[in-house]
Amino acid sequence: MKCTFLGTGTSMGVPVAGGFGKDMIDGDPRNQRTRCSVWLQTEDSSIVIDVGPEFRIQTIRSGVDRIDLVLITHEHMDHIAGLDDLRSYNYMQKGPVPLLTTKQVIESIKTRFDYMFGENKYPGSTSLDMNVIDKPKTFRDVEITPLPYNHGYIDVTGYRVNDFSYMTDVKEIPESTKEKVRGSKVLVLSGLRWGPSHPTHLTIPEAVEVAEELKIPKTYLIHMNTYVNHEESNRRLPPHVRLAYDQLEITIG
Ligand SMILES: [Zn+2]
Ligand SMILES: [Zn+2]
Repeated sequence: MKCTFLGTGTSMGVPVAGGFGKDMIDGDPRNQRTRCSVWLQTEDSSIVIDVGPEFRIQTIRSGVDRIDLVLITHEHMDHIAGLDDLRSYNYMQKGPVPLLTTKQVIESIKTRFDYMFGENKYPGSTSLDMNVIDKPKTFRDVEITPLPYNHGYIDVTGYRVNDFSYMTDVKEIPESTKEKVRGSKVLVLSGLRWGPSHPTHLTIPEAVEVAEELKIPKTYLIHMNTYVNHEESNRRLPPHVRLAYDQLEITIG
């Protein structure tokens, strides 16, 4: 399975709207981060986890030419704002885009994107085939396991897809979810900043602790803010934990 990091930045992106943080990119494109999303490719499936505000740009630059399934972690706009841009896949694939997430997120998407659903669906608006995932499910050639955890004030669902586990916007992970992640070959975990601690996100040192506890051979951190410098952070991290960056491609298994 191949994983392309479409975006790796925190909710406001790096640099943020208005330009704060642009001097901190420091000539290294890995310090410029669009909102978090990954694209997973196997022989039979093309899956995207989360569809943020830069989704259109991300799909063009990484060449996402087909989407068989969208998985959504939670309803914050940095993870769903790009749903309208799935419209072009409706045209290309001649049908609605399948989407799996929790019941709560489905309700939230229906409220926020009300013009896409129901009797008053606006002609030509995005068509999604949304269904609940609350237990492991086989999709074509992959096994998808939902990974519920806490993000401060709301619940979020990460996903294990074969030997790849993805958990963004993490604050606390229950033991039952840790059990489902164990044995993964690659873990993707959010780490907002080096410090101080944050009410809704793990810091980088806290994320490293989780990676070590779960004994995953390779962990990539995402959802970093403006102050996290790529080069400098990787020097401080243990060798099995690396910062991901936009357009990084890795192979699992
Ligand atoms: Zn987020
Ligand atoms: Zn969030």
